[in-house]
Amino acid sequence: MADKTLKCKDCGEEFVFTESEQAFYQEKGFENEPQRCPDCRKARKAQRRNDRPGFGGPRRPSRY
Ligand SMILES: [Zn+2]
Repeated sequence: MADKTLKCKDCGEEFVFTESEQAFYQEKGFENEPQRCPDCRKARKAQRRNDRPGFGGPRRPSRY
């Protein structure tokens, strides 16, 4: 295996998907490569937390 350079879906920047990360993904059984750079992943996580302050679990909208 070797490090891979991937392009972030959100900001279009290239980022490195390292060997050890690939091994981690494989170990977890993830079939997809990461779509976003670490910065955007962090940003998304932070945003999600802001959307639902203090709520830990997944919630389905009551009307769908
Ligand atoms: Zn990005």
